[in-house]
Amino acid sequence: MKLLSTCDRDAAFSLSEALRLGAAPDGGLFMPAHVPVHVRGSVPSDRSLAEFAADWLRPFFADDTLEGELDAICAEAFTFPVPLVAPLGTDRSLRALELFHGPTGAFKDFGARFLMGCFDRLAGSEPLTVLAATSGDTGGAVGCAAENRRSARAVILFPAGRVSPFQERQLTCWADNVTAVEVEGDFDDCQRLVKAAFAQPHLSAAHRLTSANSINLGRLLPQAAYCAHAAFRAAENSGELPGFIVPSGNLGHGFALLLARAMGAPVGPVILATNANRTLLEWHRTGRYEARPSVATLANAMDVGNPSNFERVAALDPGAAEVTVELVNDDAIKARIAADYAASGYVWCPHSAIAAETWHRLGAKRQGERAWVTAATAHPFKFAETVEPLIGSAVEPSPALASIEGRSTAKQHIPARLEALAELLDREKVAA
Ligand SMILES: *Cc1c(COP(=O)(O)O)cnc(C)c1O
Repeated sequence: MKLLSTCDRDAAFSLSEALRLGAAPDGGLFMPAHVPVHVRGSVPSDRSLAEFAADWLRPFFADDTLEGELDAICAEAFTFPVPLVAPLGTDRSLRALELFHGPTGAFKDFGARFLMGCFDRLAGSEPLTVLAATSGDTGGAVGCAAENRRSARAVILFPAGRVSPFQERQLTCWADNVTAVEVEGDFDDCQRLVKAAFAQPHLSAAHRLTSANSINLGRLLPQAAYCAHAAFRAAENSGELPGFIVPSGNLGHGFALLLARAMGAPVGPVILATNANRTLLEWHRTGRYEARPSVATLANAMDVGNPSNFERVAALDPGAAEVTVELVNDDAIKARIAADYAASGYVWCPHSAIAAETWHRLGAKRQGERAWVTAATAHPFKFAETVEPLIGSAVEPSPALASIEGRSTAKQHIPARLEALAELLDREKVAA
């Protein structure tokens, strides 16, 4: 499989090169030269997710140096359950794909572990520096996946004062090869810094920089696999193709789902559900894409004003990219968490509540037409300070999340300037 940049469609890269580089040298994002399509039935879905994922993703790895490693990479990455539950009871059409049973309690664990498995096999003798900007959950997942690996050190930038207390703990608690950096700015500033670092050839080469943000296709491939696996499961008992509702920030998840649909997964309508950040809603309304400054919401992992994967969605065939967009503000998030808990006892995190609210807004007729799968993107314990007052009781952590509470933490602090980041990278490299 050849990979092409969204900017210059002439230069071709191997998958390994694309994973190693993160973003294309011309500033674009890597896209597969063509979307591989699986004939229905050719990838049996009644198997473990790890086995299914390896076969689903095999066309991307064809003729690549990682081809022979794909089964092992999937076996290492997909080690925790991904239940598809009926949060409001089986008589309602809503299904929640619980993506939060991994070590850091959000779907980012899949991509981070898969990508690190690839880096382990690509790094060679000198470690890579995985530079990641995080709005909250990516950093924890990347730090956890990178901890104690010799193939990489991780440098994670997070916006000061914009992550929840537990998220901050989870960003700052990993071993010495993981550095958490608090940036004076918002998430878009963190993303800008990462982009600027990659754009400096000297810096990029000196530190063997690579990206673990969802600009790296290696984050998105495992997500396309679990989306496809869930679609087959949801389609089993229903004549109509299941619809999907995806809480969206940088659109990595949304793109992975659209890729899975284009590859032949039984996915019907796709709704991108956003928080009060209006960029996607306005794009869908007007057909014009205009980045905006991000606004802070209760669903902080989705506080994105310039979704980095938008250009991937825009690069798909118009049919493959067909979506609708729903916007859910903080008041509606709160009301949905409280109402669904009162009705059924199910507890949503603020991000997942956006998808649940979107399902409720469909109305009885559309709800009844098909199964609707929402991505439950994070464990509610990560946002206990938001969720607990709304439901009036304590949210229990999963065992993995409970174990993070006992760890010691450390962080660095920098202004949102490239020189400050460059200095820090040098300093940390000497220390390492
Ligand atoms: C990252 C994240 C999102 C947004 O996903 P994108 O791929 O950036 O669109 C939603 N919910 C949670 C809990 C997240 O961590």
